[in-house]
Amino acid sequence: RKRISCPEKDIAALQKKPVPPRPVSTDFVEIAPAAAVAVAQHGWRAKCLQRLVRLDLPVPRTVALPAGTVRALAAGQAVDAAGILARTGALVSVRPSPVNPEWGGPGSVLNVGMNAARHAEIRKTHGAAAADALYLRFVHSYATHVARLDPDAFALDPEPGALGHALTLYQEETDEPFPQDPARQLAEVLRSMARAWEGTSARLLRQAKGAPPDAALGLLVQEMAFGIGPGLSGSGTIQFVDGVTGSPRITGRFRGQAQGRAASVETLYLTRDPRGASLEEAAPQIFAELVAHGAACRARLREEMQIEFVVESGKLRVIDALKVTRSARAGVRIAVSLAQDGVISREDAILRVEPRALSELLHYQVDPRAPRERIGRGIAASPGAATGRIVFTAAAAQAAAARDEPCILVRRETGPEDIRGMHAAHGVLTERGGITSHAAVIARGLGLPCIVGASGIVLDQRERTLRAEDGRLLREGDTITIDGSNGEVLLGAAEMLAPALDDGFRTLLRWADNVRDIGVRANADTPDDARTARLFEAEGIGLCRTEHMFFDEDRLTVMREMIFADTSRDRRIALERLLPMQRADFLALFDIMAGQPVCIRLFDPPLHEFLPHDREGMRELAEALDRPLSEVTRRVEALSEFNPMLGMRGVRLGITMPEIYDMQARAIFEATVEAGRRGAPVVPEIMIPLVSASREVELVKTRIDAVAGAVRTEQKAQFAYRLGVMVETPRAALRAGEIAQHAAFLSFGTNDLTQMAYGLSRDDAGRFMGSYVMQQVYAEDPFHVLDVEGVGELLLIGAGRGREGRPDVTLSVCGEHGGNPESIAFCRAAGFDYVSCSPFRVPVARLAAAHFAL
Ligand code: PEP
Ligand code: MG
Repeated sequence: RKRISCPEKDIAALQKKPVPPRPVSTDFVEIAPAAAVAVAQHGWRAKCLQRLVRLDLPVPRTVALPAGTVRALAAGQAVDAAGILARTGALVSVRPSPVNPEWGGPGSVLNVGMNAARHAEIRKTHGAAAADALYLRFVHSYATHVARLDPDAFALDPEPGALGHALTLYQEETDEPFPQDPARQLAEVLRSMARAWEGTSARLLRQAKGAPPDAALGLLVQEMAFGIGPGLSGSGTIQFVDGVTGSPRITGRFRGQAQGRAASVETLYLTRDPRGASLEEAAPQIFAELVAHGAACRARLREEMQIEFVVESGKLRVIDALKVTRSARAGVRIAVSLAQDGVISREDAILRVEPRALSELLHYQVDPRAPRERIGRGIAASPGAATGRIVFTAAAAQAAAARDEPCILVRRETGPEDIRGMHAAHGVLTERGGITSHAAVIARGLGLPCIVGASGIVLDQRERTLRAEDGRLLREGDTITIDGSNGEVLLGAAEMLAPALDDGFRTLLRWADNVRDIGVRANADTPDDARTARLFEAEGIGLCRTEHMFFDEDRLTVMREMIFADTSRDRRIALERLLPMQRADFLALFDIMAGQPVCIRLFDPPLHEFLPHDREGMRELAEALDRPLSEVTRRVEALSEFNPMLGMRGVRLGITMPEIYDMQARAIFEATVEAGRRGAPVVPEIMIPLVSASREVELVKTRIDAVAGAVRTEQKAQFAYRLGVMVETPRAALRAGEIAQHAAFLSFGTNDLTQMAYGLSRDDAGRFMGSYVMQQVYAEDPFHVLDVEGVGELLLIGAGRGREGRPDVTLSVCGEHGGNPESIAFCRAAGFDYVSCSPFRVPVARLAAAHFAL
């Protein structure tokens, strides 16, 4: 029963100061079809109510106070409460109406105007219980919001005697009887709501949702509609689509003899239901009216609305309506269905869906309606949800996959040695790391749900246990679910929603394809990637990184033999064994892509990545190659570089060990001939990495042309191919004019280009990127969002000079940035022909590109 604060006038009385008369504001408007109601002044709710009034919905009389009046109220000015009540009637509710519904606002106060006289009247018409419940509710609100008394002291349960008790308590605590003048009650309620909006916590809450510091609040005073009374009375909400799936379905609730959140007397289902009585059966006329109102909102407000309504002795009143809260998948379905019904245009449908939200649809999701038991939380690093048994090592993940058992790989952090385990797992959870950590980047590429930096869980890799946030101990083999869309780790197998690549999704993206003016391809290295690329309707492969093809066990050994070869001839012999494998790789990609362009990048990484680094590995290698350990160690040391990312990789390898590129070119051409014979003619695209001088291109081109000539003669077949260059060193961008004379296309590798433009190691920047972004040295991680000022300048120079050197040169971006909406906007503005990104980002890129074109 603690008194929380003392009304201002009491303080004034104690200080014996005269309370100066306040100026009175009369700036408010009654909501009517032609009234001047504006969102910026009166808020979204006021505007929405006006639309409902224009649709002729039975909205109770409502007055809107603009933001200026509300501000003045908070500052101590008075409002003409009696003037307002003259337009609404003496019993009203007061509701907040911020400019944006997301910004919250103070809670609504109902039954303003209740006093002893009204209580007596309602007692006669509605009975004692109803009268008591209405009055009690108001006393509770007023005592807590206006007089700021302890809410727990005021019961809400309308038990006999509760009302009398509340009124006495109010008087004891404030030293005055409960105010009886409706105008004074209203003035005080309005003032307390205006002040609540200015409070620090309300301000912080809305600013977290993007509200500006001077966010405005309007207030609405609405004639009260009771959900209490003789005959059918109650209150409820109804909506006509499912908020999770977006499909047509009537949901909501109706509580008989109820008001707001007060205890219900009887709850009815809305539609016919075998479990019990429904509004549809009990009051078919009212139900039909609601359905008609929903249809009117959809057609005229061009939106699926949730309607808040009250039934008072059989009479329907609509007191509010708001946009149905929806999941990403429901958002797509609703937008498409509105466009299909001609309610909105296709362009509007495209613009109504936020591109990033699409990635939620591509994966399994925890059903938001299902119960969930959270045992940990981290950074949502790669969207989607997965259930599986806990494994603590990559080897255990591979073993689980071999048994066909879904698993979640749980590591402190991951490194290159975990990649196979990540491939085998259904999801990845790490205790450490941020959004650009190894685990996060790889998982996004694989489309694998991932949570990183779950610092509340404690791993014991040796004991193979995981201590959950709540202290519970989990062991290897226990089942968990990770939700990579919100970062939650859940106990057991959660109920899931399947990916929603349904008709709505496809339709929306096809519409997007019709309006966008920049192409979208996928970065795909494996047949699986290529199939995903097709599923998401990429326009071909923009980057196939071939080095991944050499890591399989059987190939790795041959690869190592090739690296250890002493002469060009020996190297060629080893490579001949790799040739059929590579040919099969490319043929598989050509088959899957069915005639769409496939851009293959020649070998890029430094050779030492294929060699073992520890003693045990070297011993095994010595055994496999039948060479002395000392020689193997010496060779490995000789190949190691101080700065491999800037060392012997990419085209530099192609120039000094040309046999590798010869073999790859041959494999590509032989696969091209074979694909042509199978009836899917291909014009392969071959791309040279890490170029910095045009002479590099000339040299490689001469050899590749020779290989093409040889294959044509041997196979007695004709084929064409396109040779292009990756622009990923600053010098290549500067010399693009000259380079383009030897290249049909230029593909900007913005990962390396960012690394080299900033002098920032891709592998080491994670250590300080967090503090750099936090201190705003960089606005964003430049590996994530294209640095349009610096790296962007190189892109513009490269594109411009490239086009000058060869007007028909094709321009594209194939770094990680290709899937990022802001970066796509830049590439489009710079006149690029296409972007290429990981397959799972293709739908986002297609929709984002359409947004920019509209
Ligand atoms: C790049 O550098 O942007 C690129 C696509 O190549 P990688 O990431 O393989 O170095
Ligand atoms: Mg690169």
